[in-house]
Amino acid sequence: MLVDTFGRKIEYIRVSVTKQCNFRCQYCMPDTPEDFKDDTLIPLDRTLEFLKVAIDEGVKKIRITGGEPLLRDDLCEFISSLRAYSPTLELALTTNGFFLKKYAQKLKESGLNRLNVSLDTLNAMRLRLISKRDALPEVLEGLQEAKRVGLPIKINMVPLRGINEDEIVPMLDFCLENGFFLRYIEFMENSHANQKLQGMNEKELLDVIGSKYQFSEVQKQTIGPAKEFAIPDKGRFGIIAPHNDDFCKSCNRVRLTSEGTICPCLYYQEAVNAREAILEGDVEKMREALKLSVHNKPEKNQWDLEQNQHSARAFYYTGG
Ligand code: SAM
Ligand code: SF4
Repeated sequence: MLVDTFGRKIEYIRVSVTKQCNFRCQYCMPDTPEDFKDDTLIPLDRTLEFLKVAIDEGVKKIRITGGEPLLRDDLCEFISSLRAYSPTLELALTTNGFFLKKYAQKLKESGLNRLNVSLDTLNAMRLRLISKRDALPEVLEGLQEAKRVGLPIKINMVPLRGINEDEIVPMLDFCLENGFFLRYIEFMENSHANQKLQGMNEKELLDVIGSKYQFSEVQKQTIGPAKEFAIPDKGRFGIIAPHNDDFCKSCNRVRLTSEGTICPCLYYQEAVNAREAILEGDVEKMREALKLSVHNKPEKNQWDLEQNQHSARAFYYTGG
């Protein structure tokens, strides 16, 4: 079992399988050149061996992310192998949804449990403004296909002042109607994002939602920093609010980057380089690296907006 020095059980790993992406979201990688190539990728069969070690050490949930994970054409085989190794593993994927129509059925058959699709707006022009791509039709079709094949879906929305703030309620309406679980994610300042962006915080979001819906906070069954709210007879929604002081208390995760670094926290620069161990397939070295990273996990993120201490790590590198 992996337990950090503050008594938190680490049962969740987020795995970034590529830094590359077909979008250029304003909050993530607005200035990355179009022809950016990721030449540090670890082959997925190597990543699989690392994750087997993590599962043996008690990891119960794995989320595949990126960059855009569906750019890796062997992703479904990777998912099938993880599922074969652990039938009880909770296996999820975060995607921008652009390639979902093509892959949804195969993802389901491979043993994926559920999907998070990032969608910040239902307005095609706005999606172009946010992601620099004309992608709304593809994402909406992908969502319907994923729903059709029976994958449970969460939608991740980053509310941005002056950009999509008037869609807080319409996005919730859309998700409630379609049986998707909407999760608002507070914009997390970082040095790779467009520095002019301004996010909305939990209180501001709840005030806007309260103008249409009555809701109450629910005690969740699962551990983790997201909060959940219930709207009677309609459904639920969630908020991820890392600006709140108590956010780190229930943190249960570490992150593996696509080049083989284990990051114990998004906003903490120290990390463990496990690249060599993973490429060599050295089980003992991989186990040591994982344990060291859990041991190094800080009590709280080192993120101080007043001191202008933003993360220098890109979200497309850590996987968000
Ligand atoms: N490309 C996939 C996608 O967009 O879903 C997976 C990778 S993306 C880095 C993972 C999540 O991080 C997305 O839901 C995205 O909205 C979120 N994200 C990226 N940059 C962010 C930021 N600065 N603040 C808050 N969330 C961010
Ligand atoms: Fe790509 Fe996801 Fe980053 Fe947007 S948030 S640029 S889709 S990795």
